[in-house]
Amino acid sequence: RKRTDCPADVETLGRSTWTLLHSIAATYPRTPTQSQQNDLTSFIRLFSKFYPCWVCAEDFQEYIEKEKIKAGSRDEFGNWLCEAHNEVNRKLGKPTFDCSRWQERWKTGWKDGSCD
Ligand code: FAD
Repeated sequence: RKRTDCPADVETLGRSTWTLLHSIAATYPRTPTQSQQNDLTSFIRLFSKFYPCWVCAEDFQEYIEKEKIKAGSRDEFGNWLCEAHNEVNRKLGKPTFDCSRWQERWKTGWKDGSCD
């Protein structure tokens, strides 16, 4: 059997989850309706209650209380999420990410063409 067919550890779960969340930001409308904004905000709040790494979930819920979820547009949400991810990066001693480039990483591919 393949190693990838085993239960996800905190790292694998984290990478997959960030991929999903940043990809949601990448496809979120530039000008969302009020109901889309409410839905995305609820989704992130509910997600934080069920995230299957309980310490991670607890800290993320605290972060959401401190830094209100911003879902007013694609770029607003993408930047909010990037900052939230950077907070976890700092906690884990990982390098922070330049949030002005979140769309290059998760939507358009890098300007140098390395994703083409
Ligand atoms: P990841 O952090 O998983 O990042 C994946 C890719 O995203 C990177 O390779 C990079 O290209 C890109 N990236 C990096 N930073 C950003 C950013 N700021 N914005 C956009 N793109 C970026 N792990 C713990 O051990 N303790 C925790 O408390 C914890 N809390 C978490 C909370 C949440 C909500 C999530 C989703 C994950 C959490 N994790 C936690 C997992 C942790 O964040 C990492 O996913 C895991 O350590 C694997 O790290 P990685 O180095 O592979 O890159």
